[in-house]
Amino acid sequence: MKTAKARYRFDGGVHPQYHKDLTEDCPVRDIPLPALLAVSMSQHLGAPAKCVVKPGDRVERGRLIGEKAGFISANVHAPASGTVKAVEKRPGPAGALADAVIIETDAEATAKAGPAFPPLDWAKAPREELLARVEAAGICGMGGAGFPTAVKLAPPPGKRCEYLILNGAECEPYLTADSRVMTENADRVRRGAEIMRRILGGPAVRVAVEENKPGAIAALEKAFAGIDGDVEITILPCLYPQGSEKHQIRAVTGRIVPEGALPIETGCVVENVGTSAAVADAVERGEALVSRVTTVTGDGIANPCNVRAPCGTPYSALAEFAGGAKDVAKVVSGGPMMGFNVPDLGIATTKTTSGLLFLARKSVFAYTSQPCIGCGRCVRACPMGLSPSEISRSVEADDIAAAEALWVMDCIECGCCSFSCPAARDITQFCRRAKNSIRAARAAAAAKAKAK
Ligand code: SF4
Ligand code: SF4
Repeated sequence: MKTAKARYRFDGGVHPQYHKDLTEDCPVRDIPLPALLAVSMSQHLGAPAKCVVKPGDRVERGRLIGEKAGFISANVHAPASGTVKAVEKRPGPAGALADAVIIETDAEATAKAGPAFPPLDWAKAPREELLARVEAAGICGMGGAGFPTAVKLAPPPGKRCEYLILNGAECEPYLTADSRVMTENADRVRRGAEIMRRILGGPAVRVAVEENKPGAIAALEKAFAGIDGDVEITILPCLYPQGSEKHQIRAVTGRIVPEGALPIETGCVVENVGTSAAVADAVERGEALVSRVTTVTGDGIANPCNVRAPCGTPYSALAEFAGGAKDVAKVVSGGPMMGFNVPDLGIATTKTTSGLLFLARKSVFAYTSQPCIGCGRCVRACPMGLSPSEISRSVEADDIAAAEALWVMDCIECGCCSFSCPAARDITQFCRRAKNSIRAARAAAAAKAKAK
C-alpha cells in the first residue's frame, strides 16, 4: 500500500468556502430512536421498492419491508422494531412523492433485535454469495446518487473492473460525514474494499481523499497498512466537484468516461467510503443498511454535529438533537452546491442523506437574476466542458431543442456555473428544467413507440 498525490486534474471546477470546521472534529453520536419513522420505498436510484408490509404488522429491526422491484432497485428493511402504523405517500428529500412505511418504534425490542442475516466469512464465501448479500442488504451508493451497489459490482459481460475507487473526496462544503466515517471506521472501509475487490475479481484499489482531511488520511493509512496487492491512497487537491464519479475517475486514473456511458466502460467502479463500510457490515455482521451518518450543520443550528440516525428519521428530530434551529432562513438537504431546499422538517432521512444544512438569516441573500453579460466565467467553471450561458439563454427562450443540441444532458447539476455567475443567473436550474423536459419527451416517445 502506498500514498500518492493524484497525477491528473480535470478541467473547470470552483473553490467555494468549505465551512467544514463546524463539524470536522465532531465524533459521530447516535441519535435517540424517534417514536415514529417514515421509511421511504424510494431511497435509491431506480424503481422504488415494492412495500411488503401493511398497517398493523409487527416488524423487527432488519426485517424486509420493501422488495427490490427491478434490475435497478434496492431492498428496504425496517430500521427499528415496532408496529406499522400506515403506508402512505410522503415527499422525499428531492420533493418527489413515494410510498413510505410509518413505523411506531419499540426501543426495547430494537435493542434486542439480532442481525438481519447470518454473518459470512468474507475470505471463504463464494463471490456470488458475497454479491447476493450486498443485494439482499439493500446497499446503495451513500454519497448522494443512491445507485444500487450490487449492480455496480456485477459488470456486464465483456467488461472488466481494473480499478475499484473508494470515493472519500466529500467536496461539498459543510459536509463531514464521510470524513468522520474514514477517521472513526477506517477498518470497516478497508474490509469493505477487500470484499468488493474479491467480488470484482481483484482490481487495483484507489482510496481517493481530498487533502483537507488529514485525520481521515492518517486513519486510512493505518487501517490499510499491510494490505496486499495494488492499493493506493490517492490524495486529491481540494477542487469542487472532485467527488463526482466522472471527475474522480479522471483525477485518479486519467481516464475519461465517454458521454452517456457508465464508469465501467473505462474499467472503473466507484463506491463511496460509507458504502464500503456498509458492505463490510452486511457481510461480516449480517446488517442490512438501515442507518447512516449525517452531518447536521450550518450557522442556523445551535450545535452542529455528526449523527448516526435510522433511515426514516424526521429532519425535525435531527434539528432537535442538534440543539434546535436559530434564526434560520433556509434549510438544505445535502450540501449547498447540489442539495435540495427543504420546505418542511417532517421530511425523513434516507440512505443517501449526507447532510442537513441550516442557514441563518445573515448567510442568505436575496438576489435578482440579471441578463447575461457574456463574461464566460460559467464556461471556465463548468467541469463538463459545456457552455452554460448559451444553455441558460436557450431555456429562457423556451428552446429546449437548442439546449439539447448544446449537450445539456451531460450536465451533472454541480452548480459551478451558478456559483461563478456575476449576474446571479440560476443557470443550474435552467439546466435541470431542460433535462426534465427532455427526459419527459423521451419517455413519452418511448411509450408511444411501445404502444404501436
Ligand atoms: S451545473 Fe451543469 S452546466 Fe453548470 S457547471 Fe455544472 S455541469 Fe456545467
Ligand atoms: S457567468 Fe453569467 S454573466 Fe457570465 S457568461 Fe455565464 S451566464 Fe453570462
